[in-house]
Amino acid sequence: MKMTKCRSDLKCDFYGCKNNAKYAFSTKGFIRKELVFCEDCMKSMFECFSKNLVPKGVESAFKGKRKKENL
Ligand SMILES: [Zn+2]
Repeated sequence: MKMTKCRSDLKCDFYGCKNNAKYAFSTKGFIRKELVFCEDCMKSMFECFSKNLVPKGVESAFKGKRKKENL
């Protein structure tokens, strides 16, 4: 996946968001060529990712629990 600065005339793709988009993700054209997000949505997405994507060292401590969740 590739992230670029997007054209300023595009609106953020996040549902309900009316900001101008600032960043664009190339999706290789599956649905459309790129998804664009504004700075606020990027920040909230990043917070969401960092909560769910646990760093490797921490992850091993929760391995037992994770396996159960995957069943
Ligand atoms: Zn937005």
